[in-house]
Amino acid sequence: MGITIEQIDNLKSLITTGSFVTKEPMARHTTFRIGGEADVFIEPSFSEVLPVITYCQEQQIPVTVIGNGSNLLVGDKGIRGVVLSIGKSMNSVSVEGNTIIAEAGALLSSVAAAAKDASLTGMEFAAGIPGSLGGAVVMNAGAYGGELKDILVDVTCLTVDGTVDTYSVEELELSYRHSLIMERPGTIVMSARLQLEPGSQEEILATMRELAGKRQEKQPLNFPSAGSTFKRPVGYFAGKLIEDAGLRGFAVGDAQVSEKHCGFVVNRGNATAAEVRELMLEVQRRVKEDSGVDIYPEVRMIGEFE
Ligand SMILES: Cc1cc2nc3c(=O)[nH]c(=O)nc-3n(C[C@H](O)[C@H](O)[C@H](O)COP(=O)(O)OP(=O)(O)OC[C@H]3O[C@@H](n4cnc5c(N)ncnc54)[C@H](O)[C@@H]3O)c2cc1C
Repeated sequence: MGITIEQIDNLKSLITTGSFVTKEPMARHTTFRIGGEADVFIEPSFSEVLPVITYCQEQQIPVTVIGNGSNLLVGDKGIRGVVLSIGKSMNSVSVEGNTIIAEAGALLSSVAAAAKDASLTGMEFAAGIPGSLGGAVVMNAGAYGGELKDILVDVTCLTVDGTVDTYSVEELELSYRHSLIMERPGTIVMSARLQLEPGSQEEILATMRELAGKRQEKQPLNFPSAGSTFKRPVGYFAGKLIEDAGLRGFAVGDAQVSEKHCGFVVNRGNATAAEVRELMLEVQRRVKEDSGVDIYPEVRMIGEFE
């Protein structure tokens, strides 16, 4: 059974600061620009998260938590229940000495800019990753030799039963694109503390610019995507394996292995989630056939595909 009008009205009454919409196309909230409608889409403020998840728990309404949607493939049939978007309404960032305290919806680019403004070094690697801090913790996002694990002190999370837990960086079991949070659905990252080092603002800015230049040069940033589609298999690069299998530019409908960087699947215009998924399966099959190596998605698939 779908969500009822009464449940929608009750949920709406819980949101006064954040935003609330129904039948919201998820394509508006993913960097892939793909995804069907969410029954209810809520962008809560910090204090609105608990009442929403408590109500959903009581009413057995499924809740899907997202950040900036930059590592997601959302099915064409959308998402049943509530999508809780930890984003614009939860994006405060503050600096205390060498520590940054930020809400999970803050974009990595904003947190990195705050670090630079405070002459704190260590976060330059993350400035160009288009995710939220919460999403970056969950994914242990990383680039150019750095990863969240290197700078994270701890995170505060809320669980569907209403418990607040603080996890130290060790407790989060962060490894390559993996965290404990992934194995605990219903755990919402609310805020995080990062530890950086004093540095030269000029050098921090220079590094950020250099890395942005590298992204611009190597990545197909002119097309919607979710970044690297597949994880790096131990001892290989997914992009190189895909290229060697002759798949540069290989397409299913408007979903295409990028001509510029084979590690990215891009949306050439009107790609559907079904096309991206079919393309990914075919890429996995042909890479295995060509090189014997299994590659697995980094992109997380959510919602209903058919
Ligand atoms: C052009 C481009 C370049 C990219 N480059 C990189 C890169 O260099 N390195 C890299 O690691 N990634 C990269 N990515 C992928 C992506 O930006 C990262 O994985 C990022 O950390 C995802 O954050 P997000 O907020 O967008 O999360 P989403 O994509 O919205 O969600 C990702 C996962 O985290 C969960 N989640 C999100 N927020 C929360 C929260 N507050 N609480 C609980 N769960 C949550 C979601 O349920 C989902 O499972 C790139 C993507 C693009 C489009």
